[in-house]
Amino acid sequence: LRAHLAPIIRNYDQIRGMVLIFTDITELRRLERLRSEFVSNVSHELKTPLTSIRGYVETLLEMELDDPSVIKCFLGVINRESQRLSRLIDDLLDLSRLEGKRHQKLTPTRLEKVVENVISILAPEAEKKGIDLLVDIPENLPRVMGIEEQLNQVLINLVDNGIKYTPANGKVSISAEPEGDWVILKVADTGIGIPEEDIDRIFERFYRVDKARSRQMGGTGLGLSIVKHIVKGHGGEIEVESEVGKGTIFKVKLKREKR
Ligand code: ADP
Repeated sequence: LRAHLAPIIRNYDQIRGMVLIFTDITELRRLERLRSEFVSNVSHELKTPLTSIRGYVETLLEMELDDPSVIKCFLGVINRESQRLSRLIDDLLDLSRLEGKRHQKLTPTRLEKVVENVISILAPEAEKKGIDLLVDIPENLPRVMGIEEQLNQVLINLVDNGIKYTPANGKVSISAEPEGDWVILKVADTGIGIPEEDIDRIFERFYRVDKARSRQMGGTGLGLSIVKHIVKGHGGEIEVESEVGKGTIFKVKLKREKR
């Protein structure tokens, strides 16, 4: 709490009284702390792949280059880590762009088109892992109020996670159905699930249930915070149900076009 004493001056500079003004600065402090935590997280996340890249490059520069298989293996790591770095920067830019946007104009958008687009992007990845990508969308699904590009991103992030965190031969299903003034978009998988104690935190930036696994899968820890941001900006809601070892369902509620 910050206090400020202000005099009340009326008639010929005579002080007639005093007003004590209190300002609550706890919220300000909290935001400052969050901000500095974020900056330190970002720095750490950027540094990790860079350190690894530098380590491998330095070793390559110092060693005898006589074994092509070792060189290839090192270059593979450098390649993977640079891709991670790019993804991280893309995600950070997306987040900061989204934060700058308030009161965006939502227009009637067909989810069928969004789903089609996402399937065409992620089908190869699913196939590579032997995962069935299923779609169940009724005919005449109402349009939702949204921004197509952002809804694409929501679905890409959710389906991509479904594929990442589901073992081979599993399933990832996308479905949608109207419910009152809403359309519910669901992404369900038969994957590893999320422990109950972690569920409330998975939308936080950089939060991962299993850091090593996320890293190995090429995750940045930002996917779900981007999803949450977009859904909020659409006046919608997101819920998650999960059982360890069984699978996870993400439900996104979006406003349907007015009838
Ligand atoms: P990441 O890049 O690590 O996947 P996200 O923000 O997309 O970051 O997700 C945060 C964490 O939530 C993941 O690291 C993972 O532990 C968990 N998670 C997200 N989606 C799923 C899912 N479909 N199944 C199991 N765990 C998931």
